[in-house]
Amino acid sequence: MRRTLGWIFLVLFSSLASAKPLTVVVDPGHGGRDRGATRKNVFEADITLKVGQHLFELLKKDRQFRPILSRASTNGLSLSDRAHIAKKTQADLLLSIHVNSNPDPRARGAEFYFQNQLEPDEESMFLAHKENSFEEEAPTGKEAPTYDFLDQNRLSPDVASIVTDLLNGDRVWRSSHIVKALKSNWRGFRKGRTNAVRQAPFFVLSQMTAPSALVELGFLTNNEDFADLTNDDKLRSMAEDLYRGLKAYKDSMDKARVAF
Ligand SMILES: [Zn+2]
Repeated sequence: MRRTLGWIFLVLFSSLASAKPLTVVVDPGHGGRDRGATRKNVFEADITLKVGQHLFELLKKDRQFRPILSRASTNGLSLSDRAHIAKKTQADLLLSIHVNSNPDPRARGAEFYFQNQLEPDEESMFLAHKENSFEEEAPTGKEAPTYDFLDQNRLSPDVASIVTDLLNGDRVWRSSHIVKALKSNWRGFRKGRTNAVRQAPFFVLSQMTAPSALVELGFLTNNEDFADLTNDDKLRSMAEDLYRGLKAYKDSMDKARVAF
């Protein structure tokens, strides 16, 4: 029991440690032979790379952040590699960047996702399937991430499960806050647009032990979004919105720490 309490304290303490730069993995979706959504020789993989690079540069200039770019070129990267980068660098946050498509050309606007433990809705499942299509095994959405350090410390299964639950709860709570901060700082938000916060079993999110979120910048299949997604100034401005969202998240976490 004493050991259990010790672990619970460790989990709480680690989330209350003094404010330090936030290690952020900026993850441009797709790459290599996987070009993602496509329209008129415009490829999702190129758009996500541009926005990811802009965001990486903005974060690099800000001492509150330690950014890592999961892919800095058009080369491919598997979904599990992306999750591995976040684990290896002990990231505080992973933001995966994507572009949407839909058979209905009226569907438009940015969407923000995080993984939680509720049943995913059908539309999110469809989207998750598209984003996961290059991974050999489709996720079920029920797989919980495993925390390596728990195995290494040979905890009893009961204690490990309590600590895992605490860590998962904390990760989901933080992920939902990231998504809220990103959404409220998104200037493209207009009344009537389908800016949504959803939960979906994306492989890259389901494997994460760090808080994580996924943004779909807009729909290639919508004419207005297409114009924005093929305009470099607009892409830069989207990266700025994401940057302001991440700053707001960092500030709110630092304040929560002080309030405690
Ligand atoms: Zn995608």
